[in-house]
Amino acid sequence: MDVAALGMLHYPDPRLRRVAKPVEDFGPWLDALITRMFEIMRDHKGVGLAAPQVGVDLRLFVMNATGEAVDDRVYLNPKLDQRSGWAEAEEGCLSLPGINVQVRRSVKCRLVAQDRNGKPIEAISSGFVSRIWQHEIDHLDGVMIIDKMAPSEAIAVRKVLRSLEADFDDRK
Ligand SMILES: [Zn+2]
Repeated sequence: MDVAALGMLHYPDPRLRRVAKPVEDFGPWLDALITRMFEIMRDHKGVGLAAPQVGVDLRLFVMNATGEAVDDRVYLNPKLDQRSGWAEAEEGCLSLPGINVQVRRSVKCRLVAQDRNGKPIEAISSGFVSRIWQHEIDHLDGVMIIDKMAPSEAIAVRKVLRSLEADFDDRK
């Protein structure tokens, strides 16, 4: 994989809509991919980035909820359970520039995943961190925030979506 060539995909790129495949090869190539994903996430001032957003069809995401290097996290083959509570909050997405919508998510959940070496890891979190987990894992299933917004918001973002669709058609 030529990680230098990877870049951010925008809606309506169909690669954002695939159900990504499990990571099964934990070889050294992963280091280059993960490093590049953190770079792209930071370049775009994001707090999370899932592999499908850069065209990589694998179940992994990187995140950093604080901006401090010590809080860099990478999760492979993640799953969520033990969900509790509901809360709505505004979210944006690096693959949907110019769009911010209210999204209803579980307040608290447990993340079960593998680390970069395939070792099992788990964590429990609530609030902002749990929201990032849910947003990024949605990407691994081809789901985006525009699938979750209220109908009233669909009208408000329609124009931006049309313009992203036109940009995508121009690049084809
Ligand atoms: Zn996103």
